[in-house]
Amino acid sequence: MRKPKASLYLRFRMPDGKQSPYYPALFDNKSRIRPFWCLVKGTPEHHPEATYYKRVKREGKWGWESVGSDANTAWTKAQAGSICPAVSTTAPEHKEPDAPTAKDGYRLDEEIAVYLSNVAKLSPKTYKAYKRSLEVFRQSCKKVYVHQITKQDLQAFDTSLMEDGNEDRTRHNRVQHVVTFLRNEEGRRLGPAIKDVSITVKYVEAPPEAYTRQELEDLFRVSDEDERSLWRFFLGTGFREAEVSVAEVTDVNHDTKTIRVDEKTYFGFKPKDCEKRNVPIPDALIAEIDARAKSGSCSLLFGNNGRPDGHLLRVLKHVAFDGGLNCGKCKGTVDGKEVSCAEAPVCEKWILHRFRKNFATDRHNGGASARKIQKWLGHSSLETTLRYLAVGDDTSDEVRSIVNGVHVGL
Ligand SMILES: [Zn+2]
Repeated sequence: MRKPKASLYLRFRMPDGKQSPYYPALFDNKSRIRPFWCLVKGTPEHHPEATYYKRVKREGKWGWESVGSDANTAWTKAQAGSICPAVSTTAPEHKEPDAPTAKDGYRLDEEIAVYLSNVAKLSPKTYKAYKRSLEVFRQSCKKVYVHQITKQDLQAFDTSLMEDGNEDRTRHNRVQHVVTFLRNEEGRRLGPAIKDVSITVKYVEAPPEAYTRQELEDLFRVSDEDERSLWRFFLGTGFREAEVSVAEVTDVNHDTKTIRVDEKTYFGFKPKDCEKRNVPIPDALIAEIDARAKSGSCSLLFGNNGRPDGHLLRVLKHVAFDGGLNCGKCKGTVDGKEVSCAEAPVCEKWILHRFRKNFATDRHNGGASARKIQKWLGHSSLETTLRYLAVGDDTSDEVRSIVNGVHVGL
């Protein structure tokens, strides 16, 4: 009875969602592979969901190569030479495989398998997204080796995504996943980085909905005074999160009753030219800012130990969760695990960007022109602002009075 040398290994997802280490495959006493059995810390275990791997030497370094999830095929592959050269014109010689030369290619299918096995260590959501993108890419691209992929393959991929009715944003994401796979910055596959094969799929992000009056009332009810002050600042300035985090009392001009966004190299804050601006703000907000500045220990209005607070979004998410305001229907990730917003502060409904939308809508309803709002929001183009204003609240009193005001008395 001769036991084959264990050069075949299994890897599977553990109950905590992480990928297991590589465990040696098991064979019966006739040297036949026992499908999906492996030796885990001295104990035979059966893992039908596992993927097979073999050890391979590439450029002098040992690594892993996926040989699929069919036990017999995997064993055949593990016994065969480890790497298929890109160009094979002569009959293969049977000798120990040398380190591959530049001519050798990395098979796309195998690289995708190895890549995904490493992406699996990230969140399940990320893994699912990459898996889908690379699968769809594989259907559109018939190249055998990774190094054969060109920009034209990405263009063809994007065209097929468009023909299948995918939205711009989805096409952008799918193409970006393939580009990240090719770049291989994290070493998630075995082959060398391919940096110059990339295309850009433009997409326009849909602006968020403004908070309703009821949502704001609920948020203010469950917030403490410090938090309420922060929400009022967002609503009154229309600032972006980063702009709020570096805001200081010295940005307020008490004569013009405006607040300024400008470069602050001492905080590493560098807005684009169109984002540098003066925004007129309510008298009540100026009074509140002055009061905060007097009681505060540093120049920052919403600082954290004298440094800009980089976690304002987190504050909002926690306040909403603790206050029972999450929708209970959406999902997010905590420590790489998918969780419901009913049980963690991950609700997609509570985002800072929505305050900015309220600012724009409020001022638009108040009669400010789109040009003015463009300037106050620091948008580079009027088109962006118009798109912002287009997604309005169709249930507001203003809309009701417009709707009810026509054809009266007919
Ligand atoms: Zn939610």
